[in-house]
Amino acid sequence: MVDVLFDFKYVLTADVVALLLCIVVHFLLHSTYMAKKANLGIFKIANILVAISAVASVFYHYMIFGLREENIYRLYFCRALCYTLLISTYVCFCVYIRNLVEPSKRFKDIYSALIFGGLAIFTVVEFVGPYFKIGYYVDENIVLHQNYYTDPFRYAYVYYGILMAFMLIKYRKKFLPKMYRCIWSVIAVAVGLMAYQAEFLQTSYTVVSFTFPIIMVLFLFHYNSYDVKTGTLDNYAFEEYVEENKEKSFSMIFLSLPNISRETLQVFSEKFLRKNDSFFESSCCFRLQDNHMVLVYEKEKNKNEQQILDKMYQEFEKVREKSDFQIVMMDSNGYLLNSKEYITYCQYTEERMPMNSIKKCDDDLLSEFLKYKFIYLNLQDIDRKGNLNDYRVKVFCQPVLNIKMNTFSTAEALMRLEIPEVGMVFPDQFIGVAESENFIHTLSKIILNKTCQNIKHMEEEGFHIERVSVNFSVQELHLENFCDDIIEIIEKNGVAFDKIAIELTETRNEKDFLSMKKVIERLQVLGIKFYLDDFGTGYSNFERLIGLPIDIIKFDRSLTILASKNDESKFMVGSFSEIFKKADYQILFEGVEDERDEKQCINMNAQYLQGYKYSKPIPMENLKEFLEKPAV
Ligand code: C2E
Ligand code: CA
Ligand code: CA
Repeated sequence: MVDVLFDFKYVLTADVVALLLCIVVHFLLHSTYMAKKANLGIFKIANILVAISAVASVFYHYMIFGLREENIYRLYFCRALCYTLLISTYVCFCVYIRNLVEPSKRFKDIYSALIFGGLAIFTVVEFVGPYFKIGYYVDENIVLHQNYYTDPFRYAYVYYGILMAFMLIKYRKKFLPKMYRCIWSVIAVAVGLMAYQAEFLQTSYTVVSFTFPIIMVLFLFHYNSYDVKTGTLDNYAFEEYVEENKEKSFSMIFLSLPNISRETLQVFSEKFLRKNDSFFESSCCFRLQDNHMVLVYEKEKNKNEQQILDKMYQEFEKVREKSDFQIVMMDSNGYLLNSKEYITYCQYTEERMPMNSIKKCDDDLLSEFLKYKFIYLNLQDIDRKGNLNDYRVKVFCQPVLNIKMNTFSTAEALMRLEIPEVGMVFPDQFIGVAESENFIHTLSKIILNKTCQNIKHMEEEGFHIERVSVNFSVQELHLENFCDDIIEIIEKNGVAFDKIAIELTETRNEKDFLSMKKVIERLQVLGIKFYLDDFGTGYSNFERLIGLPIDIIKFDRSLTILASKNDESKFMVGSFSEIFKKADYQILFEGVEDERDEKQCINMNAQYLQGYKYSKPIPMENLKEFLEKPAV
């Protein structure tokens, strides 16, 4: 018997509880600081859908009990509405999970088609079902019938259950294990309740079972970001604030308290942050990281800004005993697009200001930062594309005088960037970021490639070039492919290995030292020469330096300057050069600017000289002017 007379039990309480729970969730959503990103909109819709379906469910059951012919269509409508809304809620859950796990575009499209296609079909079937006596209908004698096997809602329930479960299993790695277990447990409770009521011919608990996932999502993904202890909101809230107030102007005070304890931070916020009202009108404080906060206020509402700031300074003076601090103040502007960029701007400023100080960002600093931002974005792009001929990376070079031969037969390759938004950029503005963000190896490969191309061209034109040295960062030596990359580029360009030298800077690190030695030995066998760059600036440990198989030592410009200071210094620098000479190293002096420098360096065993006296760095194509063209 599949078609039974409708004999379901119903208690009103469950639907009322469902409705009230939705109302409570609604209040929570609007009076607390939820993590607004990640689907909050879809979540709100789901909550409203459940609330309306609870009401529809009450009406539908109410009509069953006093069923009259003129009410049949209203009954059909309320029932179809109730179940369609519940299916829509399910759809919201599926969309929510889809957005949460961020599947690939193709997969996302297929999944979306399944979700919304299903919704369209089930909605139609729910509404027209009774006319075709599918699942549920009232017969001519005004008697209700229910067919388990054709009830569309049951199929929809299973259909979306499968879609959701599939997504959860496929992307399980995206969830913390604890969270993941919680999700399944709550689903089990909801499904369990549905199974229980089916067993006992109940229809009361359908809607309320949909409130369980609602509560779960609320807690798991939109916990309240307000921290009562410090009176601050979290950084998602800051992200949202910046997004919402893009068009308005607001001001920010970033506080960095690097070594403050949790207790002091609480006392501090009691006194200062939470009593915002006595400072800024309608201000808000966000914590970005543990000891990093930002106070945001509206400029227009705080005409007495300076007065308040003075008062704040006093508070900071008190903090100073407990922790170092850095305070960065800035106004919103049209150039920075989101909270991340404001935070980066703040960090950029902090790196350029002393501890225990306050800095107000001005237009000059902003334009400097924007320049930095463009440089960063271009570096990132150059690294991502990995094009060894990238037009933005320019190879300059500085000829080096060989004293014995009195010719410029070697040179040092120096990098420049030419960025459309900024113009020519010098190494002091990008080598540091390129190193810390691991873009440096791509840049080095480009410079090496372009250097090889230039050498090849010059040789083809008949110029004599002995060797060009290229700068590498020590961190690159640790890359697994370092040697292979270098060999590949030189070979690909058809240049002899001995035309290339590698400049490295000395290092403090024992680990660096050992792997440096290995790499040098492997490449030296091929004929590549090695220079030790910037001798005299770092941590010089003779014993270790002598242990490195280096060909040429480059004395830093600071030593050239030092030597001309007084006799004592001259003696010291001279002794260094003696030691290296005795140990069979060749010596190059950097930063030779005039005749006096030149003489002095020659007296200190120099074999090579490099500096502005001979030439500033020039585009490598122009190196020809310094090279000899032996008659053929
Ligand atoms: P460095 O390797 O010590 O390069 C020499 C720097 O001294 C060059 O600055 C050069 O222009 C400058 N210089 C040369 N002669 C004189 C002089 O007579 N007087 C003075 N005051 N300066 C002189 P540049 O080109 O701005 O490069 C700065 C630093 O950036 C380089 O110092 C090097 O450490 C780094 N760098 C340059 N190109 C590259 C590269 O391709 N890769 C890596 N990793 N670092 C590079
Ligand atoms: Ca160098
Ligand atoms: Ca140098």
